[in-house]
Amino acid sequence: MEKGLIFDIRHFSIHDGPGIRTTVFLKGCPLRCVWCHNPESQKHEPEKVQRTTKLDGKEYNSSETIGSYMTAEEVFDQVKTHIPIFDESGGGVTFSGGEPLMQPKFLLNTLKLCRANDIHTAVDTCGFALHEVFNLILPYTNLFLFDLKLISPQKHESYTGQPNHVIFKNLFLLELNNAPTIIRIPLIPGITDDQTNLEAIKSILKPLRCVKRVDLLPYHHMAKDKYRRMNLPYELENLKPYTANQLGEIKSLFNDIDIPVTIGG
Ligand code: SF4
Repeated sequence: MEKGLIFDIRHFSIHDGPGIRTTVFLKGCPLRCVWCHNPESQKHEPEKVQRTTKLDGKEYNSSETIGSYMTAEEVFDQVKTHIPIFDESGGGVTFSGGEPLMQPKFLLNTLKLCRANDIHTAVDTCGFALHEVFNLILPYTNLFLFDLKLISPQKHESYTGQPNHVIFKNLFLLELNNAPTIIRIPLIPGITDDQTNLEAIKSILKPLRCVKRVDLLPYHHMAKDKYRRMNLPYELENLKPYTANQLGEIKSLFNDIDIPVTIGG
């Protein structure tokens, strides 16, 4: 049985789909977004990270391996104890990452186990994956959480490392299948939040029937420490988080579309 490379399984999540959920984080992503909050999710291999703990003025160094291989059954064993919570709250399981569609066999097997046990499933994707993989998992996925970041092909490639035409093709595949989808837009000051980009995203979303909600995900710098521990440069050091007023103004740009819009999801 194909094993998946997992870097975390978090229970009681309330931001990754409806109800109270268990989120399974798969390691490996084809993108390299400069704002990524989970840099430990990007490489498709286990990796060692240094940890420094301060105690009574002294520093203690240790290392931790991120990522371990698990079968679908092993993951499901952790998920199934939470079925009563899913039932009570209208929740379920979300597969996130990294990019879960990079591990199609493992993802499909785990989705099938959830379906066989009547568990609601969501897949959180950057959209950059093979059309065939979307087709494979579509019948077993109740909800897609689909990122749209930058509409300009040049900017997309420069800030994420990959072109965006594949992503649009996959979004239209979800539309053709009327697959319930929540669009997630990371708001990164000076990168994704300009009016031109947001208006272009809006014009793509307007005619789509599959889009049930748009979540605007504002930049924060909580990942800074992770970059330091992984010895990676953090390019957004000087960005400031949004004020409530700024977020209100950005959200108001979406007033003229007939889709609910939230800040934070
Ligand atoms: S798609 Fe998500 S996980 Fe992948 S690099 Fe971008 S922000 Fe990180």
